[in-house]
Amino acid sequence: MRIEQGVSLGRYTTLGAGGEAYGFARPSSLDELEQALTWARERELPVATIGLGSNLLIADESVDALALKLEGELASAEIRDDVLVAGGGAPNAVCLHRARAAGLGRFEFACAIPGTVGGGVRMNAGAYGSDWSEILLRALVVDERGTRWLTPRELGLSYRQSKLEQGQVVARAEFRLEPRDPAEIKATVAELQALRKAAQPTNKRTFGSVFKNPDHELTAGLMLEACGLKGHRIGGAQISPRHANFIENADGARAADAIGLMAEARRRAFAEYGVELEHEVQFLGPLSLPALGE
Ligand SMILES: Cc1cc2nc3c(=O)[nH]c(=O)nc-3n(C[C@H](O)[C@H](O)[C@H](O)COP(=O)(O)OP(=O)(O)OC[C@H]3O[C@@H](n4cnc5c(N)ncnc54)[C@H](O)[C@@H]3O)c2cc1C
Repeated sequence: MRIEQGVSLGRYTTLGAGGEAYGFARPSSLDELEQALTWARERELPVATIGLGSNLLIADESVDALALKLEGELASAEIRDDVLVAGGGAPNAVCLHRARAAGLGRFEFACAIPGTVGGGVRMNAGAYGSDWSEILLRALVVDERGTRWLTPRELGLSYRQSKLEQGQVVARAEFRLEPRDPAEIKATVAELQALRKAAQPTNKRTFGSVFKNPDHELTAGLMLEACGLKGHRIGGAQISPRHANFIENADGARAADAIGLMAEARRRAFAEYGVELEHEVQFLGPLSLPALGE
């Protein structure tokens, strides 16, 4: 198992920002994954898995961790009867393609989610009223304690979160699908993609929703829009003029720029609505938001 050093992680994220990892490995089998985890354990290094980096903000400084990018059999997808069996690194788009080709539905909502199966488990990814917890049968989780299959209940899937911790890697997952006409699947996907295109920035570098929707009549996006934040810019990052719960890489954005915008957004939402927005995007490396009131 080759461990690379000095690999810049920004290119593995949809935002396109972030520093170098101490170590970087691309395991393509369970054996290689276990070797990589052993390498990290021997050096007392944390482990961070990167899917398609579509909900990830990585610090500009070097990241003191072993970053993993699952490949090969850990990123492939196949259909067995009416079950989708996919590696943790399999892109949702590939899974959807396999399901449609086999005449199996229920994965259509994932067309809106530009990540991987493993990232989806970690985040309990969801869109248009469905999420991973509804279709996931079980996930194979590997960490320093070993390898085991966990059910959605054991994974603790709830709104955009799970109980998985950073060093726990989803190596494989199984989803229960159901027979559906491929033409119907295609039509549903086209409809959802059109809805997405009408409401969100689709041709910009972003990391998806910045904040989770609060327990409030306004969504995070509408609240930040009402705070006058659309188009607000710090350095190379700006709050999307299209949808205020997105941050775009307008021109050479750094993670620090995005953090500045997030801090400002939280400050204004708290001042105007008394709401403490919680970030949905995951941080990797030394990144944090100032406490409200600082
Ligand atoms: C334009 C756009 C639209 C989006 N729309 C949606 C949406 O509608 N709904 C939604 O839920 N999300 C949405 N997202 C966010 C994102 O696509 C999802 O959260 C997705 O599930 C993240 O998957 P990923 O593979 O890219 O994970 P990453 O962003 O790479 O990582 C996210 C977290 O998951 C962990 N992780 C990744 N892979 C694994 C693994 N194999 N094992 C264990 N942990 C892992 C990472 O360490 C990190 O903590 C959107 C993002 C963008 C850019």
